[in-house]
Amino acid sequence: MIVFADCQDIRKMTVIKEIDCPKCGAKDGIEVFERDNQTIGDSACDQCGFTIPEGVVLESYLDDLKK
Ligand SMILES: [Zn+2]
Repeated sequence: MIVFADCQDIRKMTVIKEIDCPKCGAKDGIEVFERDNQTIGDSACDQCGFTIPEGVVLESYLDDLKK
């Protein structure tokens, strides 16, 4: 569960993405909140609990996992 600050400006710029879990492969298993290309808050997989940390660039982070 992610709780936003009471700031409407932040909310407006926030993008929500559903991605497949890079660990267990759950389809749309992780809901990621993103702003300015960086993740907001920890995003955990519903299935396995794999967590994407706050403040990372999502695409780079996922690319690094594949290496
Ligand atoms: Zn998973």
